[in-house]
Amino acid sequence: MAGKEKISTRQPLINNQVYGFIPTDIDGVDDLAELALDLRWSWNHAVDELWYQLDPDLWMETHNPWVVLQNVSRDQLIFQMGNAAFLSKLDEMMKLKEKSRNDPAWFQRKYPISDLKCVAYFSMEFMLSEALPIYVGGLGNVAGDQLKSASDLGVPVIAVGLLYQQGYFRQLIDQFGTQQALFPYNDPGQLPISPLRLPNGEWLRINISLSGYTVWLRTWQVQVGRVKLYLLDSNDPVNMPLHRGITSAVYGGGTDLRIQQEIILGIGGWKLLRAMNIAPDVCHMNEGHSAFLVLERAADFMRENGVSFEEALAVTRAGNLFTTHTAVAAGFDNFSPSLMWQFFGNYAKKELHIDFNDLLALGRDDPHNSAQYFNMAYLAIHGSSAVNGVSRLHGEVSRNLFGNLFQRWPTDEVPVGYVTNGVHMPSWDSVYADKIWTQACGKERWRGHLESVEQDIFTVSDHDLWQFRNDSRYHMINFIRERFQGQTEDAGQSPEIVEMAKHIFNKETLTLGFARRFVPYKRPNLLLYDEERFIRILTNPQRPVQLVIAGKSPPYDESGKALIRQWVQFIKQHNLHKHVVFLSDYDMLLTEHLVQGVDVWINTPRRPWEACGTSGMKVLVNGGINLSELDGWWAEAFTPEVGWALGDGREHGGDPFWDADQAIELYELLEQKVVPEFYNRNKDGIPEQWVAKMRNSMSILTPKFSANRAVREYTEKYYLPAADNYQKRASQKGIAGRQMINTFHDLRKKWWQMRFGQIQIENIEGGYQFKIMVWLNHISHDTISVELFAEGLNGSPNEIIKMEIGGLAENGQDHECSACISTTRPAFHYTARIVPCYANISVPLENNLILWQR
Ligand SMILES: *Cc1c(COP(=O)(O)O)cnc(C)c1O
Repeated sequence: MAGKEKISTRQPLINNQVYGFIPTDIDGVDDLAELALDLRWSWNHAVDELWYQLDPDLWMETHNPWVVLQNVSRDQLIFQMGNAAFLSKLDEMMKLKEKSRNDPAWFQRKYPISDLKCVAYFSMEFMLSEALPIYVGGLGNVAGDQLKSASDLGVPVIAVGLLYQQGYFRQLIDQFGTQQALFPYNDPGQLPISPLRLPNGEWLRINISLSGYTVWLRTWQVQVGRVKLYLLDSNDPVNMPLHRGITSAVYGGGTDLRIQQEIILGIGGWKLLRAMNIAPDVCHMNEGHSAFLVLERAADFMRENGVSFEEALAVTRAGNLFTTHTAVAAGFDNFSPSLMWQFFGNYAKKELHIDFNDLLALGRDDPHNSAQYFNMAYLAIHGSSAVNGVSRLHGEVSRNLFGNLFQRWPTDEVPVGYVTNGVHMPSWDSVYADKIWTQACGKERWRGHLESVEQDIFTVSDHDLWQFRNDSRYHMINFIRERFQGQTEDAGQSPEIVEMAKHIFNKETLTLGFARRFVPYKRPNLLLYDEERFIRILTNPQRPVQLVIAGKSPPYDESGKALIRQWVQFIKQHNLHKHVVFLSDYDMLLTEHLVQGVDVWINTPRRPWEACGTSGMKVLVNGGINLSELDGWWAEAFTPEVGWALGDGREHGGDPFWDADQAIELYELLEQKVVPEFYNRNKDGIPEQWVAKMRNSMSILTPKFSANRAVREYTEKYYLPAADNYQKRASQKGIAGRQMINTFHDLRKKWWQMRFGQIQIENIEGGYQFKIMVWLNHISHDTISVELFAEGLNGSPNEIIKMEIGGLAENGQDHECSACISTTRPAFHYTARIVPCYANISVPLENNLILWQR
């Protein structure tokens, strides 16, 4: 049998290595197990039919191959393993798996001899598959999709997260529209994960110290194509009951629990990597939750190289990258000094050999203010060599949020860049989309660079695109009917309503979608501002509209729950069941169906609170069109050719009058643009204007807002330089760190006594020559840069011109600094300043000193 030869060439997977039981004595079952435990098949559906064949019902119910494999009977397995068609498919899948894991991908081809060996990606949540519910929403989405793209592109990433005993809550909506929260238990035996075992079979466990107690952490592995995700949990029977529950729920409990989860993620996560002999060049913190890793990574470097904490931090931060996802200051986690003392009092002394107050200073914008809470984002910034926001606008917002850490610096120079998020297209495209895109661009389209994609979609005919759109909508409506029927049954509705659920919606009607968390800044009830007007739009007999909504409110947030109730009661009161449906239990699976089928995706956040937003990107590949507030990604994606925009591109706070204006603007857009464009058909029944928009949105935006683009950008802009810089600083036991710290102290001691003399300006051809005397107070001139600065005019960037530092002047004390500039601006626009400049440090991130001439 073909299966036998294969097995002999590989390490057999034995029961010892999985959690739960599978009958590995049957030939080929370990191959199945390997496929079931690889989340690649959650986006590449090639293996689905095998699971379907093993147990159609269970597969359709759970979409979890590992559950299918563990529940299927021995007889059925033996039967299928004797079925030639099944076996040959299995064989083909194993070959495909080997190939996709080993073939050189984008990274191997573009950087065949790279120094970047390992990026460790830390995140509190990962949204990879509904079979692994360890996520809440957007943040987990970004982490999951980037991991999948790293696998596609071959970027050497591993990831670290937590395994929660409960996922985020599941939502039930009763007949009155009240959200009920359910917390089913995540049985690790039924999740597509396996324990990490040492070569002798022992389960790898990590121990950390939590306010004086030793806490053991169990370790798990998730295979995501080429990439591995490692998970930690504290539910080890040797732990005290108090500690077993730390990882019980994602973002569960108060700050006391949160700090412990974050210690497990950051410190436990780093220790786990070291226990496996993994030494990442780059640690990427997806949000500040994992920032304690900054401390442990430095502590590790101290122990290995016998250097001080300060020096170790100077070395290791070169390899840390912090991505912030929050648009409001209140969004950052912070902990009281006393809570910090409980968990880090000893750690500061014993592990870092520093004063506890110096540790606290790393989480403050004012180190001298002992009342200030410890801010995790500040720790991440103080421990990184690069910081980025998640859209162009969010980069700008973040520069304002973090301005306090860089006092006297112009806001534009606050060191926060941006990488706009993207989504993993193969995870969100429908079978219909896959067909269209494969026809136009080939099967490998999301794996390399995406430059030609735009041209290729222009070759698809109007007819084919419109057919694709219709097929997608039909398919979704079938799903909606089925799902809604189940939901009405679960809510105990009358048989008439259950029967009616089978017939809601019309397959030819313009279908809008709105699905997201129900929190006030997303304004999920904006469409209900003028109910009568909205009903007229929905029920226009010639040009009807229908809307599918979904979303969870935070479980204890009464105002969020009221917003859901408002929708459900609106539908009921006006008998709009044929036009509007609220689907319960918004999760990855539901998103998938909605983004694949809707014609228009609606997004109404209050600018600038949506740092990026990703749900709207998921409709791009499927031919859906966005109608969105000019916030987050849409602020940089929108042009009239690709969709519709709401708002004036400015901030208005929570002004209720502005909300009202925006609701009216939204109705007008629907009435005057969206609805007519959808229903104006040519003689072949095709809405030409609509299809043109759809084509533009697909071709122009899909590549730009793909996780493929985002991961390549992270790799080239951040990972590669960070790895290089870290390796340089770490070499020779981190000698560079000592030099940097010496320079740092020297500058800080002497900085404020430096003095500028008078500036002399001479007109020269087309500009000026500036000369200024500077007394450097014995600071070495190769550790600083003297610059001329002028604020940019009309939104253009600031002008910064490096001055030449001459030798000592006649007085034997001052240095003459000079620069010639060609400009038409008046000379008084220019001011001299001094900033640190040494050892390739990132300024002002690693040293925020600055001295202005005036
Ligand atoms: C995509 C997605 C999100 C993020 O959507 P936003 O519009 O960015 O809030 C949240 N939850 C689920 C289940 C998703 O699929």
